[in-house]
Amino acid sequence: MQTIRPISFDEVAVLKRVLQVGCSPEPSEAVLASISDLQVTASCECGCATVWFGLKGDAENGAMAAEVCGTWRDQTIGLIVWMDDDQIVGLELVGAGAVGLPDPASVRPYEECLQAPLG
Ligand SMILES: [Zn+2]
Repeated sequence: MQTIRPISFDEVAVLKRVLQVGCSPEPSEAVLASISDLQVTASCECGCATVWFGLKGDAENGAMAAEVCGTWRDQTIGLIVWMDDDQIVGLELVGAGAVGLPDPASVRPYEECLQAPLG
């Protein structure tokens, strides 16, 4: 069992950016405003920076709301936001190994990563 903690400043910044870049239509003000109040209920056991916010932790992932990419230590990684209706339930990072949070400024549409050389 994991202790529940408030979302971190860095997680808020990345999550906001992922939703703004990856959602169409854009997320509502209410959804954006809810980000800073999220509680982290589970994180990934592999050591990466993936975090879950639902009451059921990583057992609940809802539907994919945004899929984008970003850069973490010269590695192009994927970022997915999972939502259940208007509730953000997860921020998943996809990359090789225990990837960390990317610089929010590096978060960009998924298509741009497919066109650009990776890494
Ligand atoms: Zn992981």
